[in-house]
Amino acid sequence: MEQPVFASIRYSAACQDCGAELECWGVQALVNGSLRWDTESRCPACGFAVAACGGDLPAELRDRLLSERGPALLQVVPSARNAVIMRVLRAELGLDLVSVRSVLNEVVTGAYSGTLPEMELLAGRLRASGIDAVAVQP
Ligand SMILES: [Zn+2]
Repeated sequence: MEQPVFASIRYSAACQDCGAELECWGVQALVNGSLRWDTESRCPACGFAVAACGGDLPAELRDRLLSERGPALLQVVPSARNAVIMRVLRAELGLDLVSVRSVLNEVVTGAYSGTLPEMELLAGRLRASGIDAVAVQP
């Protein structure tokens, strides 16, 4: 079993009850081959607290993670077979034949990026298909 991969951030927002500053915590994790996310927010002033979790990362949390941590890159060996990479990309990202070609181009040129757990997920799927791939957080 592969080690879980986490990307987490702390941030603040305005409390919806009293307007004080909320202490917020968000994490995206790759656990047992699937992505999940959690957030927790707590108000030190009035005690308001909320927690949420799910599978597909909300765009706002994803933006926060990427701006705070910087994007991770997916790297594959140059000799990797494009047909195999395309098959993995289509299966994992649900891409059609047209859009998978532009993503493939990004992957083979080392330009494809995302959150670290997202890139680790793809790298793991590629390795399972015999492609030498790694996720790198610059
Ligand atoms: Zn409050």
